[in-house]
Amino acid sequence: MSAVKKLLKTVMTERQIMMLRAHRRLRDSINRVPSKARNCNICGFEGLFDLAGWPLRIDANCPRCGSLERHRLFRLWLANNIDAVRDRDVLHFAPEGFATGFLKPLAHSYVNADLEMGRADIVLDIEKIDLASSSLDTVICSHVLEHVDDRKALAELFRILRPGGLCILMVPLVEGWDTTFEDPNIKDPKGRAIYFGQDDHVRYYGADFRDRVRDAGFTLTEFTAVEPFVTRHALQRGDKVFVARRPD
Ligand SMILES: [Zn+2]
Repeated sequence: MSAVKKLLKTVMTERQIMMLRAHRRLRDSINRVPSKARNCNICGFEGLFDLAGWPLRIDANCPRCGSLERHRLFRLWLANNIDAVRDRDVLHFAPEGFATGFLKPLAHSYVNADLEMGRADIVLDIEKIDLASSSLDTVICSHVLEHVDDRKALAELFRILRPGGLCILMVPLVEGWDTTFEDPNIKDPKGRAIYFGQDDHVRYYGADFRDRVRDAGFTLTEFTAVEPFVTRHALQRGDKVFVARRPD
C-alpha cells in the first residue's frame, strides 16, 4: 500500500476514497471528450452533451432538450421513415415530452400513455391495453418492455395494431448474449439494479429479443446506430431501433 493511501485511510472511509478516485477518473474522462461539437437532431443544439445514466455515460444528455442517445437514434430513424407517423393514428407509450413535440403535428391522431396517472394523456396497462383491436397504425414503445411481462405486452401490441401497422421498439440489449437474462427470484430493487441495470427492470435482453417479437406474430426489421451518426449525434454504437410490423 502506498504511503498516500495509508495516510488517506487514517482520515477517510473506503467509500470516501473510492469517491475521490471516481472524481479524478470522471474529470479525466470529461477532459478526453473530443472537442468536436455534437449535434442534437431533435432540438438543433450544437456543443457537448452532459453526463447521464447509471453507470454514468459521458456525452449522453442534450443540455437543451434533455434527449438521450436512444431518443436521437429514434429521431434519426424517423427522419427516413416519416410515413410511419405522418397522417397515422399513433399511440406512444411512456413518452418523453420533446418527442411529443415533433410527433403530434405529424400524426392524424396522437395519444400518449403511461401506467402511472399524470405522466401521459391516458393511463394504459401495456399488458392489458384497454383499446379496441386493430385500432392503430403505429405504436411507439421505447424502453418499456424490459419493465413488464413482455410476452403479454407484445401480444397486446399486435392486437391493437391494424394489419400492416408498425410497432417501434427499443430495449436495452446485449448483442453478445444469445439468451435474455431474467430471473423471477430477483425482486428487490437493489438486485434488479445490479442484474438488470435499473431497479425496476425485470430482465436484460439478449439477441433472442427478436424471437420474442416474431413469436407474437410480427415481422421485424432493424435500424442500427452507425457512423457518421454515432459521432455526430452522440449515439451508442450498435444501438437498435426495432421495427415490428403486423403482417397484412
Ligand atoms: Zn437537444
